[in-house]
Amino acid sequence: MQALVTTDIRVMELRDTALPGEHGEGQVLLQVDAAGICGSDYGLYLGKHPLSNFPMIQGHEFCGTVKSLGPGTSGRFAVGERVAVEPLLGCGKCQPCRLGRYNCCIELKLLGVHEPGGFQEALLVEERLLHPVGDLPADIAAFAEPMTIALQAVKRAGVSEGEKVYVIGAGPIGLAILLASRWLGAEVAISDLVVHRLDKARRIGAALVLDARDDVVTALGAWTDGEGPSVVIDATGVPSVIRSAVDIVAAAGRIVTVGISTADVPLPLATLIRKELTVYASRNSVRMFGEAIEAVRRFRAEVGEIITHHIGLSDVQQTIELALERPDIVEKAVVVFDRAGGTT
Ligand SMILES: [Zn+2]
Ligand SMILES: [Zn+2]
Repeated sequence: MQALVTTDIRVMELRDTALPGEHGEGQVLLQVDAAGICGSDYGLYLGKHPLSNFPMIQGHEFCGTVKSLGPGTSGRFAVGERVAVEPLLGCGKCQPCRLGRYNCCIELKLLGVHEPGGFQEALLVEERLLHPVGDLPADIAAFAEPMTIALQAVKRAGVSEGEKVYVIGAGPIGLAILLASRWLGAEVAISDLVVHRLDKARRIGAALVLDARDDVVTALGAWTDGEGPSVVIDATGVPSVIRSAVDIVAAAGRIVTVGISTADVPLPLATLIRKELTVYASRNSVRMFGEAIEAVRRFRAEVGEIITHHIGLSDVQQTIELALERPDIVEKAVVVFDRAGGTT
């Protein structure tokens, strides 16, 4: 079988490797059907991600077909069934794991980061990480993982029906947050510097799209009768943008940070207190896969709009390079394993 190995900064090699060996206890052999390329994959590939550690097999947004079941599996899944993979491995022992918040486990391991991920034809996966996707096409099912990230963000803030949510950044995660907000019945305004992304956001249901170069504060004020959106979600990680959320959000509002930066972000304490704001950090997701799969099923056409590239394993490197140079062209790229006689 073939596996795409990131061997060094900006170097990916397609290698012929042996099929996975014997199943361990509770493991399932999965043939990978599709694997999305995430923004964090760009960082890992560039060696800029703190967890870049070569050689590695990337890809944490993937689905596959069950090929065989190991000893100690429950019988929940049948051979031939398509499943999405939850890529998080918590230790089960630390404080967050004991609280059920394994997404921020102090020894968290991720498939596609610490352990080999979906940029290969097959792998052994623990059955407990699998979620049934029914008849969803592979590319759409692979989007369940980014949808879990989006659901975690909107649920951290307790977004509710009829609320006005402002999402900053219309990359794949920003657009997924737009869909997750709609899933909960909220109305969404979204901004970006890339105009092409705003057209896409409008097509998938944004009530208001804003060029980030324009006067977004005035536009959002007009949209909310002068109050400001009650929830602002940052999907950029840009410190000045996160800082601006404090001024934009309504009094008694909530801010959610999903985008990551290693820089410090100074926040004005007087405004935070005057408005009595709540700031939520949101990391990965906890028990969101079932609902994420329902959401991508409902928003199947919209997810199809977000996916701009279907590629083979051998095209990943050049697609990442293209995405880095032209974010207006590559929104979400998905590796699809096209097999003779198989369906995707
Ligand atoms: Zn991701
Ligand atoms: Zn833990």
